[in-house]
Amino acid sequence: MQIIDGKAVADEIKKEIALEMEAILASGKKIPHLVAILVGNNGSSETYVANKVKSCEELGFKSSLLRFPPTITESELLAEVIKVNENDDMDGLIVQLPLPNHINPDKVMETISPRKDVDGFHPINIGRMAKGLPAYISATPQGVLDLLDRYGIETSGKHCVVVGRSQIVGLPMSILMQRNTKIGNCTVTLTHSRTQNLAEMCATADILIAALGIPEFITAEFIKEGAVVIDVGLTRVEDTTKKSGFALKGDVKFDEVAPKCSYITPVPKGVGPMTIVSLMKNTLLSAKRAIY
Ligand code: NAP
Repeated sequence: MQIIDGKAVADEIKKEIALEMEAILASGKKIPHLVAILVGNNGSSETYVANKVKSCEELGFKSSLLRFPPTITESELLAEVIKVNENDDMDGLIVQLPLPNHINPDKVMETISPRKDVDGFHPINIGRMAKGLPAYISATPQGVLDLLDRYGIETSGKHCVVVGRSQIVGLPMSILMQRNTKIGNCTVTLTHSRTQNLAEMCATADILIAALGIPEFITAEFIKEGAVVIDVGLTRVEDTTKKSGFALKGDVKFDEVAPKCSYITPVPKGVGPMTIVSLMKNTLLSAKRAIY
């Protein structure tokens, strides 16, 4: 069994981006500029956005954090998105979710220019991804593809079971794994909370991707001997032994699942570090006008 070291792969990709940045600076080309919109004061959202801004700084990207009070109206927020769309210096725009209840997130996502949608949430990017056209691919599924690729894991002809069908993880993951690409060509089963006999279904997977958000739900009985297990789940659970008072748990019961696997991602330091790095890659692609 081999542990997939997401932190090491993310560091490797960061070095590659740093090299590209050196070339960009040397040739006077455009420095990538990521804009994050944050509405309200949700604690987790603050942390996520702060980490994205920090990564921009580390890599020499420009970043702008636009903060708005939770009372901002939907039309005011859409007007702010349009301002970013029209600003040629700004390459990528992310609007941190969740938004207050009076704002429709789909409307906001659809207002972001597909050209600046580095989160890959716009229907045009999702549609282009499904058709195999150049598109921004959402960060977490892209991170999983990169992990499989960098570890040389064969996916062609394999049965991939994805647990969870969310718009940001499970659904795009299932589309990507069945595409006719180097990391792809799987026969995919997409499962969700209404799936019957989930454990039996998962136990037929050569590659199991868990993204349901229930800590340690996937136990040894879900796993075929020799399977590749990718744990996207990330949940804070109370842990009085930790200084912070909480621990991060994946969707997979690591200790009992790992001995049955050929490869497995741990939590933390598995998929998590890949997500931000994928967002940075998308921002770089946008600055280079490589997709649109
Ligand atoms: P989500 O929007 O809550 O979606 C969860 C999905 O899991 C839904 O499709 C749901 O089915 C399905 N599900 C729930 N209970 C289930 C069960 N008992 N059996 C089978 N399927 C079940 O979650 P998400 O945003 O995709 O996130 C999933 C997990 O990944 C969370 O822990 C999140 O924190 C983590 N995550 C990590 C990263 C990272 O960077 N590592 C990034 C994004 C998300 P229904 O559709 O039927 O409700």
